[in-house]
Amino acid sequence: LVIANFPQFVEHLDRIYEAVATDTSGAVADYIPTLRDAEPERYGVAFTSVDGQIHERGADTRCPFSIQSTSKAVMFAAALEQAGVDETLRWVGVEPSGRLFNDMALLPDGRPFNAMVNSGAMMTTAVVAAAHPKVAASDEPDADGAYGDRLCKEVLMPLWTRLSGGGHLGEVGLDRDTFLAERATADTNYAIAYLMRGRTGLPGDPQLPSDLRLNTMTDTYFRSCSISANCAMMSVVAATLANGGKCPTTDDRVFSVEVTKKLLSSMSFCGMYDAAGEFFFRTGLPAKSGVSGIVMIVVPNVGGLAVFSPRLDDAGNSVRGTRFAQELVARFTFHSFDNL
Ligand code: GLU
Repeated sequence: LVIANFPQFVEHLDRIYEAVATDTSGAVADYIPTLRDAEPERYGVAFTSVDGQIHERGADTRCPFSIQSTSKAVMFAAALEQAGVDETLRWVGVEPSGRLFNDMALLPDGRPFNAMVNSGAMMTTAVVAAAHPKVAASDEPDADGAYGDRLCKEVLMPLWTRLSGGGHLGEVGLDRDTFLAERATADTNYAIAYLMRGRTGLPGDPQLPSDLRLNTMTDTYFRSCSISANCAMMSVVAATLANGGKCPTTDDRVFSVEVTKKLLSSMSFCGMYDAAGEFFFRTGLPAKSGVSGIVMIVVPNVGGLAVFSPRLDDAGNSVRGTRFAQELVARFTFHSFDNL
């Protein structure tokens, strides 16, 4: 067993849970109704070890939420896995941006800074779409006029299901209200999408109409942010990454070790919005947050932690999620450089 005395370890997690629960600072995201109306007091923590031991604490570990920007991490790995490293890096960089997640700035060569900002996440979405040419070529608007339905249902949701343990802790869904709200308030994302098309063009079959490729990219990105999961499932996703891409509860190899290493490197320098530097400085752990209040934190070779608590700090990270990670490394030698 990776954590020989799991009950004792879990006691520490529970103590951290209690200590962090008293922190009611921060505010829920308010740019769309489904996030604005979230119950701010929701709180759940789940830990899954790389050998499949699971601990859940709090009433809300099975409460579904939209995964928001945590989708960016998985989209990047999907691009690396399905299109290859060279092809992915042809379209998106791996540099910290030092800018807001939805900033329009691009690298001097026209690529997005990295896959964890909106520009880069949309671009990796287009890379994934291009890796499924038949699905992308047959993309058609759904009842709401939105594209990306098949890519979401046939590529993204099955991938999330595999990463999160195959369904035994909950179902991967699509939060349609969130999706439609994201899509209806997406002027900045559309501006970035057109800018990228103007600077570098978009991946995909040049025979396909360029507006189709753009709509597939943007709508699939909004869908990806609106996938729903719960905290227990997210701990398994984090544990899958901690385990080099192989899901510890199903033994399903979802990502190669090489791809997982590259994803975790990126999460280390750009997973936590504009607080990514400080987060890694303090915890030494790769992590990815989303504005619904989820943070997934990866302890390589040990396990994955997910904290769900919707109140966010100024950078957009869950207040309790960030604090939990700091308390964790204060008690355990989980910092990347604790082996010095
Ligand atoms: N869905 C948001 C957007 O594209 C990003 C959400 C997040 O940062 O978690 O603006």
